Amino acid sequence: MSQLRFTVVKEAFSHKAVEVNMPKEKPSQYFGKYVFNRKKMHEYLPKKTFDALVNAIDNKEPLDREVADSVAEGMKQWALDNGAKHYTHWFHPLTDGTAEKHDSFIEHDGKGGVLEDFTGKLLVQQEPDASSFPNGGIRNTFEARGYSAWDISSPAFILGNTLCIPTIFISYTGEALDYKMPLLRALNSVDKAATSVAQLFDPNVKHVYSYLGWEQEYFLVDELLYSARPDLMLTGRTLMGHDSAKNQQLEDHYFGSIPARVEAFMLDLEIECHKLGIPAKTRHNEVAPNQFELAPIYEETNLANDHNLLLMLLMDDVARRHNFRVLLHEKPFKGINGSGKHNNWSLGTDTGEQLFAPGKTTAANLQFITFFVNVMAAVYKHNALLKASISSATNGHRLGANEAPPAIISIFVGKQLSSILDHLETSDKDEIIDMAGKAGKTLGVYQIPDLLIDNTDRNRTSPFAFTGNRFEFRAVGSSANCASAMIALNAAVADQLNEFRAAIDKRLAAGEKFEHAVLSEVKALISFAKPIHFDGNGYSDEWKAEAARRGLDCETSVPLIFDAYLKPESIEMFKRTGVFSEVELAARNEVKWEIYTKKIQIEARVLGDLAINHVLPVATRYQSVLLDNVSKIQALFPAEKFEQLASSEMLSIEKIANHMTVIRDKVKQMVNARKVANKIENQREKAIAYHDTVFPLFDEIRYHIDKLELMIDDEMWTLPKYRELLFIR
Ligand code: ADP
Ligand code: MG
Repeated sequence: MSQLRFTVVKEAFSHKAVEVNMPKEKPSQYFGKYVFNRKKMHEYLPKKTFDALVNAIDNKEPLDREVADSVAEGMKQWALDNGAKHYTHWFHPLTDGTAEKHDSFIEHDGKGGVLEDFTGKLLVQQEPDASSFPNGGIRNTFEARGYSAWDISSPAFILGNTLCIPTIFISYTGEALDYKMPLLRALNSVDKAATSVAQLFDPNVKHVYSYLGWEQEYFLVDELLYSARPDLMLTGRTLMGHDSAKNQQLEDHYFGSIPARVEAFMLDLEIECHKLGIPAKTRHNEVAPNQFELAPIYEETNLANDHNLLLMLLMDDVARRHNFRVLLHEKPFKGINGSGKHNNWSLGTDTGEQLFAPGKTTAANLQFITFFVNVMAAVYKHNALLKASISSATNGHRLGANEAPPAIISIFVGKQLSSILDHLETSDKDEIIDMAGKAGKTLGVYQIPDLLIDNTDRNRTSPFAFTGNRFEFRAVGSSANCASAMIALNAAVADQLNEFRAAIDKRLAAGEKFEHAVLSEVKALISFAKPIHFDGNGYSDEWKAEAARRGLDCETSVPLIFDAYLKPESIEMFKRTGVFSEVELAARNEVKWEIYTKKIQIEARVLGDLAINHVLPVATRYQSVLLDNVSKIQALFPAEKFEQLASSEMLSIEKIANHMTVIRDKVKQMVNARKVANKIENQREKAIAYHDTVFPLFDEIRYHIDKLELMIDDEMWTLPKYRELLFIR
């Protein structure tokens, strides 16, 4: 091992578990400590203000300025009492992560000093200097300014010493420049649409909420090893590195105990989460070495998404305290599993019904089947769009590879429910029959057993699986903002439900009986959505061929996948649901293509630098050692012995030379491809060029670098190897 690498590795391995500052109280006592939740509102706001705010939140009504002023006063007081000195509008721009600009509470007091001030005006709306946030041209064509506005449905919180106010971020002319605004619109539209369908079954339903329970997968790497890998630091993934002799083949990590250092990190993180009101619940090892998962209890989608974004910030912070770096990249290491963020998604009424859970009564089961098949139809119609919603340069590494959902959207239904759907579709009677009991035994009309939850087989290869009372959208990337997937899914389902309700109304108006009307539409949807239903092995080549035959979207090029947003059926759907205008869709795609290009561009630069400045010099040095050896053999031994003694060294010298030549040539080719691509003005064309001409060279270059890593004297190789990066002691 090289001296430098040895020192780094030794120090990294000597890192001990960092002691966690354990609160004395129980979690229930510090949960939400730093959140301006209803309890704090009640404590800090005048009764009248409290009532007005709660009413505005619950009934989605606007808040007048007087109330806002009073809320601001109470919120400020609470923030100051908890050590906050600054406030910020916290928003989700179209880049990864979140953005904030901090302002201090201080204002002149007119007597040469300052006082703490915070008004309703500052709480409700700000104009962050947003010219450097991606906007896809919206702010050039329309109006230069953008502003952020308070989202009262997500509570303010204190992070560090700053009061954070969740906000939307929009242009002056109202176009969304963020993820939150369209998410709120999508949630609104699914609320309206699902409520109108749920009211067919229960007129008491006033609202339907969308719920999200994400499962966040991530890798941890020791910070010293991380800082010795420029590729990890700059791109979040390793651009080179030969497989470790041992990686996940023994499957010992998944079942293994959590290393003490990691457990301390997790505990610390969970405490921070709980203080910020994030209901972190589950933690475990994942399949790959150094890979872990954290999942909270599910929440209403807007809040759940804020909490996921907040978690990603917290993870980074807490990891540093434990001498770790957290990797949220979807594929940090070649040859072992990547990381996703499963999005468990469901709809539920304000009367407490879960719409994707079979019920105890005939009516409840009819309602369940109704919502179920509408989801199938929506996902089928918009399968290309849903794939686009989870696609990115980084998630592209994961999708379609053998450990991740395939790059084709399909729905896993499970055996039991499949047979119910099959029966329904073919039966000419208005009935639902349970096929789960003894073969063909009729348990009664409209019966679905409530053991579905335990009975859904766990198909890990499906990108969109029904898991008993919810759907699990597994294709979402670990670094993604869940909003992207949640916007597309909720909007698509809302649109489908509106269509369904209209069809039912028409049948009822024509005098059909309610149950007959519903079952007729349900049957039609089952037939229509058949192609999206697939319970088999999503990783198999047969499925790829079959999916293409079924007409499902099979595109694998990320820049081309984005085109789905601009297809007429997507534009129309988003327009009907009020989620995106065509201008917004076009602008956002510009941003997507631009980000794709930039990510590949950065990776190409880092790979080029490492190849030329690290790999080639080390290879040359080792080659010189071999050459030196060969000439000494030649000088010392008679010619007839030379061949025998030096042949293996000479072969190595030649191999090294060949690898070096290819690396040099391919890097040159990559630089040229970049230059050509950079001249392209059109963002879509440029992204396609990067995908088609720059990106494919990464693996070619890497292949030769990884071969050299295997050949070259371990003592000369300075970059930490996979076997060192991947196993936390
Ligand atoms: P898995 O077995 O897939 O790891 P878990 O049981 O750990 O799944 O749950 C995963 C996530 O699903 C959790 O965040 C959980 O809160 C969430 N979840 C459970 N029920 C629902 C539901 N009805 N709607 C949305 N999310 C849910
Ligand atoms: Mg899961």
